Amino acid sequence: MTDFSIFNKTTSQSFKQQKGFIKRVLNGKNLNCPECGKDLELILPAKKDAVKNPGIYCKKGCTDIELDMDAVQV
Ligand SMILES: [Zn+2]
Repeated sequence: MTDFSIFNKTTSQSFKQQKGFIKRVLNGKNLNCPECGKDLELILPAKKDAVKNPGIYCKKGCTDIELDMDAVQV
């Protein structure tokens, strides 16, 4: 089960990083894609006309994070 625990660690690590990234975007501090530097599209749950799920999306597709609002509230 060694592989499993390593995999688990890696996942929670990147989840933490992703969470920090989401917080910066929600605070308006980082609205550029970390991959290509283009503007990110932020879709909040309040947008009822949104075609996508709430999340942070890059138009080129390198950033594609669906927001789980429970995970973002800290
Ligand atoms: Zn991008």
